[in-house]
Amino acid sequence: MSTIPSITLNNGLAMPQLGFGVWQVPDEEASAAVRTAVEAGYRSIDTATIYENEVGTGLGIRQAGVPREELFLTTKLWNSGKRDWSGQAGRDAVLREFDASLDKLGTDYLDLYLIHWPRPMHGSFANIWQAFEELLAGGRTRAIGVSNFGQAELTQLFETTSVVPAVNQVELHPHFPQQELRAFHAQHGIATEAWSPLGQGKELLGEPALAKIAAKHGRTVAQVVLRWHLQIGVIAIPKSVTPSRIRENLDVAGFELDAEDLAAIAETATGRRLGPDPTGFDWN
Ligand code: NAD
Repeated sequence: MSTIPSITLNNGLAMPQLGFGVWQVPDEEASAAVRTAVEAGYRSIDTATIYENEVGTGLGIRQAGVPREELFLTTKLWNSGKRDWSGQAGRDAVLREFDASLDKLGTDYLDLYLIHWPRPMHGSFANIWQAFEELLAGGRTRAIGVSNFGQAELTQLFETTSVVPAVNQVELHPHFPQQELRAFHAQHGIATEAWSPLGQGKELLGEPALAKIAAKHGRTVAQVVLRWHLQIGVIAIPKSVTPSRIRENLDVAGFELDAEDLAAIAETATGRRLGPDPTGFDWN
């Protein structure tokens, strides 16, 4: 949708700053949610192999009837704890996982492929990244990035590989604004993408300070939070399966948070995550 701004990634690719996330949407509901989102005007969709809804996501995209090249499609490599990603076998496994995702999505390329979690306790992820670089060079995905990486993991990646990730998708919302990591990303040309941008619809949306700002602008709290993401230069991928909320979350143009609003939003930061700290977290 023309009112949604884009971010230019470090390889020149434009990515919509507002997209639609489908975590926890069952596969059989994903097609309706994604179709509603694309029909409402979303042009970026974020899924992952572990969400087990790539089939429904792909179906929803096709049902919406928007040409594939007008959409920005992201999925993520699941780092199964049981899998050995090292050596030639690891590289082949990444390529197989990628092909399986494309198959399920019913598309022949991705816009963005992400390593879902770094799992630093399992050593280097350089081998996975080299396979990602191959996918990029072969035109199978238009950009490659990571998710849940901290400065230490990004630094390790810079030291062992040659392509700087286009994106790092991390937990980020007014309660957990990630200033330091955002500054680090900016230094290295990495776009910051916020997961759980609405704080999963929990305490954040009940913040009295946000209600006040919403009333001032004649908007909802969710719209104020998403507007905040856009104004601080972050990519946000809110999730909803409720058609009215899907549309509400896209309708964030036409008003501007001022310095006073931004200061009040900054005051709500708690420094507490909703999800796990990726540095010590080992998914299986
Ligand atoms: P979110 O912050 O987008 O919140 C979604 C919830 O907020 C909904 O389930 C609903 O309860 C509520 N909500 C949505 N719109 C609302 C509105 N207008 N008014 C009131 N309540 C509303 O949470 P999320 O789903 O955790 O994150 C968004 C996306 O980020 C996911 O769907 C997924 O694509 C991605 N994600 C990625 C990771 C990762 O590890 N990379 C982790 C979590 C989420």
